Amino acid sequence: MTFSEINQAEILNNLGFEALNKMQEETIAASKKNDNLLLLAPTGSGKTLAYLLSILHKIKPGSGVQALILAPTRELVLQIESVLKLMKIPLKVNACYGGHPFSTERKNFLSPPVILVGTPGRIQDHLQKETFDPSSISQIVFDEFDKSLEFGFTSQMEFIVNRLKKLKSKILVSATQNIDIPKYLMLHDPQTINFSKEKAGTLNLYQIVVPKDEKPEGLMFILGGMQLNENAIVFVNHREAAQRISEQLDFHRMEYSMFHGGLKQEQRELELAKFRNGSTLILIATDIAARGIDIPKLDYVIHYQIPPQENSFQHRNGRTARMKETGTSILIRTNIDSLPSYLPYEPKSYEIKKNQQIIIPEWVTFYIGKGKKDKINKMDLVGFFLQFAFMSKDDLGLIEVKDYSAFVAVKREKSMELLKVSRNQKIKNKLTKISLAK
Ligand code: ADP
Ligand code: MG
Repeated sequence: MTFSEINQAEILNNLGFEALNKMQEETIAASKKNDNLLLLAPTGSGKTLAYLLSILHKIKPGSGVQALILAPTRELVLQIESVLKLMKIPLKVNACYGGHPFSTERKNFLSPPVILVGTPGRIQDHLQKETFDPSSISQIVFDEFDKSLEFGFTSQMEFIVNRLKKLKSKILVSATQNIDIPKYLMLHDPQTINFSKEKAGTLNLYQIVVPKDEKPEGLMFILGGMQLNENAIVFVNHREAAQRISEQLDFHRMEYSMFHGGLKQEQRELELAKFRNGSTLILIATDIAARGIDIPKLDYVIHYQIPPQENSFQHRNGRTARMKETGTSILIRTNIDSLPSYLPYEPKSYEIKKNQQIIIPEWVTFYIGKGKKDKINKMDLVGFFLQFAFMSKDDLGLIEVKDYSAFVAVKREKSMELLKVSRNQKIKNKLTKISLAK
């Protein structure tokens, strides 16, 4: 099936969106007239859909890989893949990234995808090992291009561009405006779509100033003031701080997720899944989580440590106030820290809410030891859990199915009973491990 047979309205409907926004309309229109685009727009403005629809309009009938999307982190690759899935287009998509077996990806190439999403390093690896035929690729997208440069993916990207002899169209995507476009990209006369001045949502910036050594208390006050189902990301500058905060939250018996570069891929996916589905309402994260990761609803961004770079500050804040939502960003500062030079004004002081409370998340996450590769899909899992009489539709939340596992959000009050009856059961006739995700 070719893209011309696919309906844009249907895609929007599948995604649950009413209409494209102005930036998306302009990008798609520009892509029809120009081979090369430079797309600049703030985080949270919907750049993913803008470039995905742009490339889809140029997909032609025929076999072979046609479009390659490069993104700097595994999480971002997985997220782009999941948007493509939600669109429900009948085109094969493969995702390639480090941290899971190369052999799985090699097998996936046995019937080549139309769209390939991957990190620069992993795609280079595939090209060097010749696991697929890249000669039909005519479109490339560099998502979060500025970050790819910052992460040092220059040689990989240069290698990839040089290998793709039939490239016709290139889209460079960035949330930061001042980027130098490297020569090796051969991005000739790109049309620039610049929405970087537009604000996605409304962001309110606050600070709390605490005595030296009392940052942990300051953080507890902010978290203790959160209302039911509000969530927060607590950003730190390095892993050690993440570890310290996690010990403190353990002490207060608070549920949280943690996300940093020292965790294994599977653990990172689980931590994010728990935060996304509401099993945890607090995510402690280093800046690797600040890029690209889309958490549809995020109430607070807390800067436990002030990032030295303005870029990181912007990207952290960009996690909230996405599209039309409003968000709150809070800086925790001791009375001896000065304001970072990129903040020209003193933020309003954040009012600590009275009635301090520890909120217990409404959901818990079940780990299912089978996934897509075992031919398990969402509906199988819904069917499995709803076979028990005490379970109703509302007791199930977000379900994420990965290659070899799945995460299902279950209402906390039903979780213990459900665990008892579902242990050692068969799903689709296969004995499946079912446990609380830890
Ligand atoms: P960016 O890449 O610019 O940071 P994303 O592509 O991740 O932003 O999109 C941000 C959020 O906006 C996502 O939650 C996405 O589902 C939502 N979104 C994108 N386009 C639309 C639209 N046209 N209408 C409503 N929501 C949208
Ligand atoms: Mg993006």
